[in-house]
Amino acid sequence: MKKDKPTRERILSGEELPDEESYSVRLRPTTLAEFIDQEHVKENLAIAIEAAKGRGEPLDHVLFYGPPGLGKTTLAQIIAAEMGADIVGTSGPALERPGDLIGILTNLEPRGVLFIDEIHRLPRVVEEYLYGAMEDYVVDFVQDKGPYARSIKIPISPCCIIGATTRTGLISAPLRERFSIFHHLDFYPEDALVRIVERSAQILAIPVEENGAHEIAKRARGTPRIANRLLRRVRDYAQVRRDGVIDKQVADEALSKLGVDERGLDDLDRKFLHIIVRQYGGGPVGVEAIAATLNEQTDTLEEMVEPFLLKIGFVNRTPRGRQATAVAYEHLGEAQGEDADAQRRLF
Ligand code: ADP
Repeated sequence: MKKDKPTRERILSGEELPDEESYSVRLRPTTLAEFIDQEHVKENLAIAIEAAKGRGEPLDHVLFYGPPGLGKTTLAQIIAAEMGADIVGTSGPALERPGDLIGILTNLEPRGVLFIDEIHRLPRVVEEYLYGAMEDYVVDFVQDKGPYARSIKIPISPCCIIGATTRTGLISAPLRERFSIFHHLDFYPEDALVRIVERSAQILAIPVEENGAHEIAKRARGTPRIANRLLRRVRDYAQVRRDGVIDKQVADEALSKLGVDERGLDDLDRKFLHIIVRQYGGGPVGVEAIAATLNEQTDTLEEMVEPFLLKIGFVNRTPRGRQATAVAYEHLGEAQGEDADAQRRLF
């Protein structure tokens, strides 16, 4: 789905890059059975889908939250397919005016699915029209102003609204309350990413050995979209510099050249950690201070850098700010605590 937010051209970004739409379509699983990992989410969805189908009703409204690239859009499409329903996709920032949303809602097929990506970016004036749609399948429309104002209720088809967000804290309470199924998608374990790389390699007819798939998975930041992207980049390298087959050594060389280290960190991650370690003695330091030093947006760091560093235990979030951990020091090859003090005294 097109996003109006400028996408940072970063190989380790979980967001879709401009040239990736056609690959996303080809690599997207189309059934729950094909969707790899997230067993708990799949099982709960399968039950809810079967129950709704049995009652001949649309599925209850679903909210997916989690970092970009983990399968929220894919799951929305799978839900529609498994329900045998039509799906219309849009995003919070694309719905600028109430009319944009009302037009879509009033045209939905019975039991259809409306997928709203980045739902936390829905303007408040638009969001209010979702409330009635989600609760009673009506759009409450106020015509005229002042003493002549009349409320008109336009009925819409019973439907399922699926929202996706990377920032659940930014969703208003009234909107959140109208969802009944919530699923948090977490970063994928390495073995699941290996399966994703192998599945994609098969679809794209890329020869990859098991140790090559492991090497790519290890550096993919727990994110299927990144795993698929790294696979394509390594394929190019294997084709041009080698015999086209991806093994551990080829993957390692290709990814190292792209600046992706063995833990899946790139230059921006390493700069982020270096600032905490070198300029703030390991922290705690506020993310705004790090952003100012890096000349980056706080949002970018909070959405694209920190979640993975927190997940792998390189950074802790404390009430006083971010703190680098011992594993981060080790990864950077930096001395910590007394060793660092001793080193500083030497100079
Ligand atoms: P999000 O909406 O969370 O940003 P998407 O649903 O667009 O993420 O997924 C990004 C890409 O990753 C998709 O093209 C899909 O091919 C792949 N993908 C995501 N989750 C899985 C999964 N569980 N199994 C296989 N491929 C996946």
